[in-house]
Amino acid sequence: MTTIESPESRPAAAAVEHVDVLIVGAGISGIGAAYHLQQRRPGSSFVLLDALEARGGTWWTHKYPGVRSDSDLFTFGYGFKPWRGPSIASGEEILAYLDEVIEENDLAGKIRYRHRVIAASWSSEDHRWTVEVSREDTGEQLRFTTDFLWMCQGYYDHEQPYRPQWPGMDAFTGQIVHPQHWPEDLDTTGKRVVVIGSGATAATLVPALAEQAKHVTMLQRSPTFFIARPKVAELAAQLRALDVDPEWIHEIMRRASVTQGEEVMRMAKETPDVLREFLIDSMRPLLPEDFDIDKHFNPTYRPWQQRLAALPEGDLFTALREGTASVVTDTIETFTPTGIRLASGEELEADIIVTATGFDLSLFGNVAFTVDGEPVDFTQQVTYRGIMITGVPNMAYVFGYFRASWTLRADLVSEFVCRLLDRMDERGHRTVVPRLRPEDADMPLLPWSDPENFNPGYVMRSQHRMYKRGDREPWTHHKEYSEERAVLPTADLDDGLVYR
Ligand SMILES: Cc1cc2nc3c(=O)[nH]c(=O)nc-3n(C[C@H](O)[C@H](O)[C@H](O)COP(=O)(O)OP(=O)(O)OC[C@H]3O[C@@H](n4cnc5c(N)ncnc54)[C@H](O)[C@@H]3O)c2cc1C
Repeated sequence: MTTIESPESRPAAAAVEHVDVLIVGAGISGIGAAYHLQQRRPGSSFVLLDALEARGGTWWTHKYPGVRSDSDLFTFGYGFKPWRGPSIASGEEILAYLDEVIEENDLAGKIRYRHRVIAASWSSEDHRWTVEVSREDTGEQLRFTTDFLWMCQGYYDHEQPYRPQWPGMDAFTGQIVHPQHWPEDLDTTGKRVVVIGSGATAATLVPALAEQAKHVTMLQRSPTFFIARPKVAELAAQLRALDVDPEWIHEIMRRASVTQGEEVMRMAKETPDVLREFLIDSMRPLLPEDFDIDKHFNPTYRPWQQRLAALPEGDLFTALREGTASVVTDTIETFTPTGIRLASGEELEADIIVTATGFDLSLFGNVAFTVDGEPVDFTQQVTYRGIMITGVPNMAYVFGYFRASWTLRADLVSEFVCRLLDRMDERGHRTVVPRLRPEDADMPLLPWSDPENFNPGYVMRSQHRMYKRGDREPWTHHKEYSEERAVLPTADLDDGLVYR
């Protein structure tokens, strides 16, 4: 239950609030965690703290033109709430869906916005965390205590996107914009826009901007695999026309999407060349006749070694066909007062340059962790199933899939955490911590992500700051949904976890 206490040892400024579970983040993961916790453990008190001024996380931060999912919403939506819209949804549609979850489950009163978690200190003596919070609006410093800390902070810094520096940037007389901080009043009508980047964000922005701009150039250093997908899935449309119950439709579409995703993953692993050919062949008829696919859309990496980006109705290809957008694959030599000069000598004239260059990984929302007074050096710790960290008691985190919808895993992790908390209650334990077992003494500690498996720039740039993984269960992560949906619900809670 929630209690307010005022211990003498604490600063007098504010009372300390205690909750059984403190959730950091009110994005899709944090709201999902709150839902599961409330359903499974109605007696647990909890709050969600978020540094932003509203719910949604990623979908609140990103407000650039055309912002949308690139997963289908039957799997990017929660398992517990049917999705009724088009498979690929706009940022606004996703926010509206989250609003419904909040309203239907009476979660609004549990969320505190503009509350940034700065530090979390675990005391083994007290069996609890003390959490330092800064109010973004008033500057007030608050303190919470909690028995269990549930980190739903996402995977990148919402404040500081990745912005490479190029020579001459200061000399550019036009406007430079990052998609993570899109100016509300930016008018691109009739402007020449260069979008630097080749990922999902660039691919979303280019066709959206091309509707108003004079011309949009997608400038990429190297290509990405794209696949055109219908915005509204045919099967969902058929089921709706037959007046099938929305819950059934949701479940059928989830199964269809998961099965299709698994088939693509199987091809990526077993016959990557066949998959490459399939992807290229499916792009060809959608592109202009003389388009150099090998140069612009045939990456050197294997399909799925980096994210495969979906294009609703092939919108990027349409803009290329219609000539409102073009792709340039080259390296930036320098910005100039009027645009960008490339290594090939070509000059791109621009009024606006958008740096769709992505982000860096954020380690647990930049929260400073200490355990019994010692700062936690996460680079020396090992993940437990991609849910907890060795040496860090009573803390779980949500990290979704890269190659399937994030939320499929968020739901699985939430169920796992609730099962763990139930079990601690049943056995009267107050502390749980992952600890390597005697047989793990010589286990090699491997980098957070195996570059052979998944190696996009934001992972490679930041992995030296991340925790490690082992070479055996339960010290591995980044599994596929097909495996985890069978393993996690029945995983042995005594293996690798120590209780007190
Ligand atoms: C433009 C874009 C499109 C994407 N599309 C897809 C997609 O289609 N499918 C897919 O599977 N994935 C997609 N992703 C990945 C996406 O980020 C996740 O799928 C999902 O939205 C993450 O949800 P989350 O709640 O875990 O994290 P986030 O959405 O990042 O939310 C985390 C929240 O935690 C808060 N927070 C962090 N640190 C602190 C702190 N110290 N104190 C207080 N609050 C804190 C943040 O303010 C934020 O509100 C996309 C990402 C981007 C950027």
